[in-house]
Amino acid sequence: MGKVIIIGAGGVGTVVAHKIAQNKTVFTDILLASRTKSKCDAIANDVKKRTGVEIKTAQVDADNVNELIALFRSFNPELVVNVALPYQDLTIMDACLAAGVNYMDTANYEPKEEAKFEYSWQWAYQERFKAAGLTAILGCGFDPGVTSIFTAYAAKHHFDEIHYLDIVDCNAGDHGKAFATNFNPEINIREVTQKGKYWENGQWVWTEPHEIHQPLNYPEIGAKESYLIYHEELESLVKNFPTLKRARFWMTFGQEYLTHLRVIQNIGMARIDEVEYNGQKIVPIQFLKAVLPNPGDLGENYTGWTSIGCRISGTKDGKPKTYYIYNNCSHEAAYQETGTQAVSYTTGVPAAIGAMMFMTGEWRKPGVYNVEEFNPDPFLAQLSQQGLPWNEVVDGDLEV
Ligand code: NDP
Repeated sequence: MGKVIIIGAGGVGTVVAHKIAQNKTVFTDILLASRTKSKCDAIANDVKKRTGVEIKTAQVDADNVNELIALFRSFNPELVVNVALPYQDLTIMDACLAAGVNYMDTANYEPKEEAKFEYSWQWAYQERFKAAGLTAILGCGFDPGVTSIFTAYAAKHHFDEIHYLDIVDCNAGDHGKAFATNFNPEINIREVTQKGKYWENGQWVWTEPHEIHQPLNYPEIGAKESYLIYHEELESLVKNFPTLKRARFWMTFGQEYLTHLRVIQNIGMARIDEVEYNGQKIVPIQFLKAVLPNPGDLGENYTGWTSIGCRISGTKDGKPKTYYIYNNCSHEAAYQETGTQAVSYTTGVPAAIGAMMFMTGEWRKPGVYNVEEFNPDPFLAQLSQQGLPWNEVVDGDLEV
């Protein structure tokens, strides 16, 4: 039982707030803080209507360490769930250290001026969190998050050695818009327009953006063209599972989405540096975010499914084995429960379960850890109960 602060009132923050409120035997007091307090209030009102649980709200600039420290000292939480943007990871970790609060997030730190995803900045906090007796849990959304925990579960229960890992992420939903991103557009476009990268035989192999692709079959969905992209959990997974000979990440994109993306890049709207406009400095991708549909509002008319999982091969008892573990999530069901679409839902539910793992003592060890370094069993038991049931296929055709 404990007090929790959620930072960030976007699509993911909405789901985390609902799910944490639904588990009031674990969380005694909840505070939702973000840059725009009115968004926190709107979420708190909706949670109150649906669950009867009160959530306190506050305004905070999470780029400002002193403001964060003051907020943490006044509410005195045990844990901060960071679902603001990756830019705020380090300031929030600094404030956690200063105020003696444990930390959790769903995306690794990224500097604003460079689209560069790596854990080095956050792993550098290891000794300081250890010395302070505080736990930092990194990457507890779906991917990273559940995909990392699926891998840990496979390694623990199904294999003596895992050799090949392919994380497959399909969104077969339709939101009815010509172009929209399913989570923060700035973060999303920075992620999918960068070069591809995968791990093979002890080193990283780089590809041009979207250069490698193939159709893959997703359960209940069928074949979807899937593109090899770099995704941040690969970095910690190859470190924590050194038997991996190859680790890749695939994401589905529709032709319409890719065409829009190409145009956005070609006309310079994906630029992350400042340009002068009417005597003012603006960052094109931030301006683009202001005119694109808000991902948090896509839910109402969203139909179809997401399907995300891990296709793994290796050995068990001296014999080759394959294993596929995945979750399918319905956009409509996610909307009915929380008012958001499945991409926010599949991120927010694991974040709330991660917070629960910390509060119940299942995942608590001083230092900075990626989720696959904790026991996957209690987490996956909760995942099914909290709205994201998972399935397994043993010795099927992995296609990859
Ligand atoms: P949104 O843009 O919808 O929400 C982000 C929220 O953070 C907004 O409420 C925003 O405030 C707030 N915020 C931004 N900057 C600050 C700041 N300086 N101080 C205080 N609050 C701030 O994003 P999403 O909800 O879609 O995504 C949230 C996080 O989840 C991101 O880090 C994203 O990368 C991660 N994610 C992880 C996934 C996973 O599977 N692991 C999948 C999808 C997302 P305002 O409302 O004022 O703009």
